[in-house]
This record gives sequence, structure tokens and C-alpha cells, in this order.
Amino acid sequence: YSGKKSMTSLTESMLNLKVKDFQSLPVVVSENMTVYDAIVHMFLEDVGTLFVVDDNSFLQGVLSRKDLLRTSIGTQALTTIPVHIIMTRMPNIVYCHKTDSLIMAAKKLIDRQVDSLPVVNETEKGLEIIGRLTKTNITKAFISLAETHDL
Ligand code: ADP
Repeated sequence: YSGKKSMTSLTESMLNLKVKDFQSLPVVVSENMTVYDAIVHMFLEDVGTLFVVDDNSFLQGVLSRKDLLRTSIGTQALTTIPVHIIMTRMPNIVYCHKTDSLIMAAKKLIDRQVDSLPVVNETEKGLEIIGRLTKTNITKAFISLAETHDL
């Protein structure tokens, strides 16, 4: 088949990939959860990033594996420190929307050097978390493009 034609459609399919078609379920914890419980939660849920919410379920922060490791190698009491002390907090959280192009979200992951982005709905009162977009989701999208185009 024509190489030129297939490359055009590959470009189109790439630009048409949306966050909502590849996002995963978000795993959230309360800002009052202890660091110890957050570590247990991260293992049980099998994710690399936890999103931290306030009592109204609005996004307040992000906890990565290294955030938890860093705290664990100190002498601090893991069973008493709440995660809001150690998390990366708003307004420094990088996020995306479900209708965003996957390319734009992938660029945010790379530019900001993070492993995942919360997918949010913006409301007047705060950010509602509706998904989680990780480097694994981007890799799956990459494979789906290859399969769609018989590469
Ligand atoms: P790790 O720290 O395990 O390598 P990341 O690269 O995702 O994982 O996280 C690096 C740092 O960036 C951590 O301190 C984490 O809290 C923060 N971080 C992770 N995701 C985001 C995000 N979407 N927005 C802002 N900061 C983030």
C-alpha cells in the first residue's frame, strides 16, 4: 500500500488520541491519612502515585513512591505524620482534562518530569478527580497506534 497515505492517517490517528480513551482509575487518599497508611495503600492498590483530597474530595496534592521513600529513610514517625505534610501540593500540581489530546498530556508528563497526571473536572469550588494518566497509558496508546496501522 501507499506509504504516503498510511503516514497521513497515522498522523491523524495520533492527533485524535484523547486522554479519556486511555486514562486509568484514580486512587485517592485523604490529606489526613498517615504516611504509613499511604504506603500500605499504595501497595494494596498497586499504583505508583496517590492523589490526595480534602474532605470535599477536591484535589489537594500528589504522593509519589519517592515522596514516601524519602520520608521513610528519615527518623520521623510514619504512623503519626499526615500525608499533607509531605505531599506536593496545589497550586503546583500538573493535571489534564479528559478531552485533552494524549500528545499534549504526554508532553506535560515529560516537561514536568512526573509519572502521572490527575485527570480533572474544574468546578468553581475545586478540582474533581475523574482519572489518572500515567506513562503506562501513553505506552499502551503507542501500541494501539501500531496495531491500528499494522506496524
Ligand atoms: P517518583 O518521585 O517516585 O520518581 P514522580 O516522578 O511522579 O515519581 O514524582 C516526582 C515528584 O513530583 C514527587 O515529589 C511528586 O510528588 C511530584 N509529582 C508527581 N506527579 C505530579 C503532578 N502531576 N504534578 C505535580 N507534581 C507531581
